Amino acid sequence: MSILVQDITKQFGDFLAVDRVSLTVESGSLVALLGPSGSGKSTLLRIMAGLEKSDHGQIWIENEDATYRSVQERQIGFVFQHYALFKHLTVRNNIAFGLNIRKASKSLVKQKVDELLDLIQLRGLGDRYPSQLSGGQRQRVALARSLAAQPKTLLLDEPFGALDAKVRKELRTWLRQLHEQVHVTTIFVTHDQEEAMEVADRVVIMNNGRVEQIGTPAEIYDNPTSEFVMRFIGETN
Ligand code: ADP
Ligand code: MG
Repeated sequence: MSILVQDITKQFGDFLAVDRVSLTVESGSLVALLGPSGSGKSTLLRIMAGLEKSDHGQIWIENEDATYRSVQERQIGFVFQHYALFKHLTVRNNIAFGLNIRKASKSLVKQKVDELLDLIQLRGLGDRYPSQLSGGQRQRVALARSLAAQPKTLLLDEPFGALDAKVRKELRTWLRQLHEQVHVTTIFVTHDQEEAMEVADRVVIMNNGRVEQIGTPAEIYDNPTSEFVMRFIGETN
């Protein structure tokens, strides 16, 4: 499912949060939106998801104008930094939630949940409650729950941002592997340039609401096109 962002602008009061952003996301690719805090990444992602209206510009999904479509119509899965799992539901029922509301049969739900538990490598923990999981495990469950609804696109806003450095590194590798298995077009927001460079096929670097550079990690390393990009990717976390 390819996505085309065309000349998107968003202003909050006098403040220009997203400034004429255009970019293309190829079907099946894993793209990072990378930039410092306040650079407009979350706002852009929310506009792509249909959670926020832009002031100007269009969002095209698979060659169709989706600018005025609802979140549901866009068939997008969303995962935020702070796991929004249902505390009173087990892992299994959290994952099943996306299927249950679509009136799937019990046996199909069980089969699907088992597949997803395997995919997130948490088979055996299906009967636990979120409070009995680590932060990294909770984010994996949140991803599985989004995937259960079979979205065409997955948007992740700093999915590992709240976790400690070691777990974050493990989840990078895991996200890459997961993407190779499911091939859902995925866009993830991060302010961590190591994370973006290691995980993504392509990286979109944002600064002050604008796109500074778009390229593969290698292209950006080898040929940063601005002083800002050079400094930003040179920083270590
Ligand atoms: P990032 O995700 O890159 O940190 P955001 O997209 O969250 O950046 O925010 C970009 C800028 O827009 C920030 O300065 C933020 O304070 C501002 N902003 C975001 N959402 C709102 C809002 N609902 N009202 C006013 N200002 C906002
Ligand atoms: Mg943000």
